[in-house]
Amino acid sequence: MNNNFRRGFVLVISSPSGAGKTTICKKIIEEIDSIDLSVSVTTRQKRKNEIDGKDYFFRSDKEFRIMENNKEFLENANVFGFSYGTLKREVISKIEKGIDIIVDIDWQGTRQIQKHIPNDIVKVFILPPSIKELENRLGKRASEDKKNFLKRMSEARKEISHYTEYDFVIINNEIEKAVNQIKSILFSERLRRYRQLNLNIFVDNLK
Ligand code: 5GP
Repeated sequence: MNNNFRRGFVLVISSPSGAGKTTICKKIIEEIDSIDLSVSVTTRQKRKNEIDGKDYFFRSDKEFRIMENNKEFLENANVFGFSYGTLKREVISKIEKGIDIIVDIDWQGTRQIQKHIPNDIVKVFILPPSIKELENRLGKRASEDKKNFLKRMSEARKEISHYTEYDFVIINNEIEKAVNQIKSILFSERLRRYRQLNLNIFVDNLK
């Protein structure tokens, strides 16, 4: 019997888009066991290089509404005029199996998850190293037009203003460093007493 069975948790990673969050999340998934990335549903257009079912489930407004009415979302929000949602099925059964789930969502979604499962959420906010760097990164997204770019910059500033609602804040100066910092958070959170479900049995055997 596995005396050390633990409950997984939701590792929320928020940041303004362009702070390097997607790259960081992918590295964490590649380098660490027992952690998955939740694939969200969105109504926004697919960008070049994105794959349906891998980066997002790209759905129409109507399809999104049906899923919302069927209560399929753990949280959902409107970001930049498009709907985004985290599927319950991507999260709940996994944390019960001891798998941690990274969700890359905005502050609105974070608040909703915090309300539903306050003991199973760890919130990390990633800041870009400077506004100039953020502009560079957002400007480099070829599929975004100028108007969209300016809108994203203004949304980025709004997103940044919510950093105080998070448990941990990381400044992404250097990707490897940011990844290592998230790993430390992850490994520490895995050791929380209340996540280690069979500790009492283990301790009884020590008597
Ligand atoms: P992008 O369209 O650039 O991939 O993401 C735009 C913003 O939407 C990012 O801040 C991202 O964190 C947020 N986002 C992505 N998926 C979800 C989701 O399922 N729920 C919420 N609330 N926000 C999301």
